[in-house]
Amino acid sequence: MVLDKAGTPLVLRDVPKPKSGRGQVLVRVNACAICRTDLHIVDGELPDPKLPLILGHQIVGRIEEIGEAVLSSLGIRHSSFAVGDRVGIPWLGWTDGDCAYCRSNRENLCDHAKFTGYNIDGGYAEFTVADARFCFHLPGKYNDVDVAPLLCAGMLGYRSYRKTGDARRLGIYGFGNAARLIVQVALYEKKEIYGFTRPGDRADQTAARSLGAVWAGGSDEMPPEKLDAAIIFAPVGGLVPAALRALAKGGIVACGGIHMSDIPSFPYVDLWSERVVCSVANLTRQDGEEFLGLAPRVPVKTKTETFPLEEANTALEKFRAGKLSGTAVLVVGKD
Ligand SMILES: [Zn+2]
Ligand SMILES: [Zn+2]
Repeated sequence: MVLDKAGTPLVLRDVPKPKSGRGQVLVRVNACAICRTDLHIVDGELPDPKLPLILGHQIVGRIEEIGEAVLSSLGIRHSSFAVGDRVGIPWLGWTDGDCAYCRSNRENLCDHAKFTGYNIDGGYAEFTVADARFCFHLPGKYNDVDVAPLLCAGMLGYRSYRKTGDARRLGIYGFGNAARLIVQVALYEKKEIYGFTRPGDRADQTAARSLGAVWAGGSDEMPPEKLDAAIIFAPVGGLVPAALRALAKGGIVACGGIHMSDIPSFPYVDLWSERVVCSVANLTRQDGEEFLGLAPRVPVKTKTETFPLEEANTALEKFRAGKLSGTAVLVVGKD
């Protein structure tokens, strides 16, 4: 399924089977979960995607071919893969390994990073190629469909969650896929969850409580206790001052989305007393490895709704309209 131009539907088209270049693996795709970022790309809210583009950055498949090894200071990580292995391909698809960020363990901020399904063709396809150094082995406990949402919603959610340090009372704004996954980890680590939904969204508030939130309410409400931290997953800038007002002194607000509407101005007193606002960008391979190690122990359960590859537009529309019963996963092939 190919995106030719932002603002237009994806087109089902035969394209040549990609070849694995140096350091790459050719992967036969079994499943690819859909992320909100895919919608932002289709809607033209993220600048300069590769066009035409194959979307998709939560890819699960089997290695069909391994390209020639690349010997460099980055190592030859793909020696840990063999033909036939199941792999996960995430959002972070390539870094230069050489810029100031990469050399200080912040490859998520790499100046020249390339992202799967954005600058590199992704997984809304039968085959894809990926830089082996950025692929993951996946826990055997999960099938292909259930593990796919862990690759972005899970990993990005995990990075956002780690930004909140040892916060005990944790507010979550926006109960989408990432929130639902990371709440399970937070509860496993004995955190108290306060769930914030759109004002009056009783269904989501009930869902938040059933996931284990000690309190759930509208984003216009104050929690019964001041929060140590909050994570904002909804792409709504107005939630930043709202979350700051709900924080105890020294608390942190982590914005987990790649795109957000403008943040309205707010009085400095709401930030005063060492409150912090930060954003969370991309992921590092270490985040991914940590989360995939932790997920089966919790165990993090995913809820999915599957679609055949050729119904990607339907899946995107249902996502946009908030009509999905779980993370949309395109089912492409089978082992
Ligand atoms: Zn994503
Ligand atoms: Zn770099």
